[in-house]
Amino acid sequence: MRPARALIDLDALRHNYNLARGRHGGRALAVVKANAYGHGAVQCARALAADADGFAVAFLEEALELRAAGIDQPILLLEGVFAAAELDEVVRHDLWIVVHHAEQLRIIDHARPALPLEVWLKMNSGMNRAGFLSHELRPAWQRLKDSGKVGGITLMTHFARADEPHVLATTEQLAAFDTATRDLPGPRSLANSGAILGWPATHRDWSRPGILLYGADPMPHEPNGLRPVMTLESTVIAVREIPAGAPLGYGGHFHAERATRVGLVALGYADGYPRSVPNGTPVAVDGLRTRLIGCVSMDLLTIDLTDLPAVGLGSRVELWGANIPVNRIAQAAKTISYELLCNVKRVRFEYS
Ligand code: PLP
Repeated sequence: MRPARALIDLDALRHNYNLARGRHGGRALAVVKANAYGHGAVQCARALAADADGFAVAFLEEALELRAAGIDQPILLLEGVFAAAELDEVVRHDLWIVVHHAEQLRIIDHARPALPLEVWLKMNSGMNRAGFLSHELRPAWQRLKDSGKVGGITLMTHFARADEPHVLATTEQLAAFDTATRDLPGPRSLANSGAILGWPATHRDWSRPGILLYGADPMPHEPNGLRPVMTLESTVIAVREIPAGAPLGYGGHFHAERATRVGLVALGYADGYPRSVPNGTPVAVDGLRTRLIGCVSMDLLTIDLTDLPAVGLGSRVELWGANIPVNRIAQAAKTISYELLCNVKRVRFEYS
């Protein structure tokens, strides 16, 4: 059996969820969209089912997968619905929906659901991606009320830069939201991971932790008690010596600076490890740090074992996890932990 695997620590997931809810107070929707950021939505939701106040996914099919797996907590569709036909499913499966655009108001107006819908009305407080502007918010709220099809309305917004501790944008978004919603009743939800950890003034009735559930710190330089959930690892499947000056791997871009003992590892970019990381990116072999050398291939990568004589064939290679933060690899690949985690595929997933 190919040794490439993603080990998922469900205890760490529960720990991180409870840490988030403790920091924020109130209730927390665990964001498990995109297959729980690549960790397995059904397994993660089941692991959180006893603790979580509810879940958030992006769209209907993701919610239906959780319902089919027996998840009966509230589930919010963060993108809401795209067509009237989806509203029947929303009602049948008792889902909550975000409404962020006038087209969705029209869909609700023309729909025929028997039960009241539970709506999270989204304000665009400055991110300018989705949501109603301040002057559109009250009319949207009123239209939902007048439709006769809506039960509760929760007011929400989403931050563009909550993971940056010292920028004004979050304060400005918060002020814009508070001003626009001042006279509207109902619970509020503002905080994603960055805001839960770094912006207490944004804490209201509901939080929406995503990346921090998986232990990847949105503010990588601040200690916070999170535990990594995924360890991406494989095994050294071959070892060979190459002389000083010899090229290694596709493109021949890496040349050994010295006689080098090369470990061949069964994991590549087709498994989700980024091809874009440079030589020298850290890996841990049997808990000892060394470096990636040569270009990452589709199924394989190569590491420097010259200074680690005790490790070799069969040694465990951690690409990210407790020893190598996924943020460190994201930084090397000039991306974010979210993208790396979502992209893990083809490896064996083992849950504990
Ligand atoms: N809330 C909304 C509306 C989102 O779109 C997301 C993720 O994109 C989250 C919460 C979770 O964000 P994070 O993973 O940064 O905690």
